[in-house]
Amino acid sequence: MEVIRDDYVCKIEAVKILQKAYTEGRIKAKDGCVSILHDLNALPKADVQPVKHGRWVRTDKSMGVETVYACSECGYQVRESDRTNYCGDCGSKLDIIYQDDKVTAVKVTEW
Ligand SMILES: [Zn+2]
Repeated sequence: MEVIRDDYVCKIEAVKILQKAYTEGRIKAKDGCVSILHDLNALPKADVQPVKHGRWVRTDKSMGVETVYACSECGYQVRESDRTNYCGDCGSKLDIIYQDDKVTAVKVTEW
């Protein structure tokens, strides 16, 4: 049997996998599925927080020759060259790209 790493997973996704396996006939015993669902529901909640996503918003301010950008989630401001993929104040992952005020993608490249 393959060793499973101790990553955090979503219970809902685990239940979907189990339901799909039952629907596809890969698991035959309905009682077994119900028992596994019960065990999944009994798992303790992981000690993690949801990741907040945001973006750097260009302001009309400048520091020297550099434009100042603000975190869309908390307003924390930095110079253009100091932007990172995370907000140094609230910890939001600043990876959302907006076009015409609609989210079009999640940025995956580094600055
Ligand atoms: Zn922030």
